Amino acid sequence: MKTHSLNCATFCPPCRAAVNGKGSYFERGTLVCHCLLVETPSDGLVLIDTGLGTADLNSPSRRLGTSFLASSNPLLDLEESALHQIQALGYQASDVRHILITHLDLDHAGGLSDFPGATVHLLHDEKVAAETSKDSLSRSRYRPQQWSHVRRWQTYSANEGETWRGLQNTQKIVGLKSDLLLVPLQGHTLGHAGYASESKDGAWMHCGDAYFHAASVKRGGNLQSPPWGLNLFQNLVATRRRQMHETQSKIRSFIQTTDAESAGISVFCAHDPEEFAEQKAKSHPLSKDS
Ligand SMILES: [Zn+2]
Repeated sequence: MKTHSLNCATFCPPCRAAVNGKGSYFERGTLVCHCLLVETPSDGLVLIDTGLGTADLNSPSRRLGTSFLASSNPLLDLEESALHQIQALGYQASDVRHILITHLDLDHAGGLSDFPGATVHLLHDEKVAAETSKDSLSRSRYRPQQWSHVRRWQTYSANEGETWRGLQNTQKIVGLKSDLLLVPLQGHTLGHAGYASESKDGAWMHCGDAYFHAASVKRGGNLQSPPWGLNLFQNLVATRRRQMHETQSKIRSFIQTTDAESAGISVFCAHDPEEFAEQKAKSHPLSKDS
């Protein structure tokens, strides 16, 4: 299975020092939206998360809301949409048959409407939370116009499945022959999940928004803890804060017990630009025939 790391939205919030842990407070920070395109031998293209979609980029205020636009300051570049990047590879939207979504927050689910024929996989609790939660945080993060068109949902219970390398309740993706697993990583939202794979082409786990900065789960970087602004943000937007910290501790212990770095297991989240650059360097070249 070939994987391609795609950045499907760049955000430039204020206060780089607080967001990225370097630079000044007067510069703008940089956050990415790391999506994975997986070319499988038997299941067509599988997309993990979708970033902002073309409809978001064409009508940002209506689709995303003005407060999100003001705080996250996205570039709104059509060339960053997953659809554009996949078409640039010579594929069509209909080649994407399955989308594995970490959660339905607006910066991850926006591209769903660009792939109307795909089956969308996620934890059952996330679908229910997005459809029924009415509090103000939920109303700003979940935007039904991004996913109300979806006809084929495939949902999973967070309390079933097998143990994979110490992570409990992991489940094979229904309807796929490829080795792709859903890993419940709740806390950021009620039904947040990550996705993992282990094959002869390598092992990886996409943790979505289970953490926002590598320093939350990995040792050895320049920072011992996430930059304070990003840390404040992840706590403010977590639906279950305590569960978010338990999930981060679970990822930390996964990295330690598997000795992930030496074992060649890549672990990364959605928004860390340095993790993205690292993964992109390992990605297969972006070419349909490569
Ligand atoms: Zn996010």
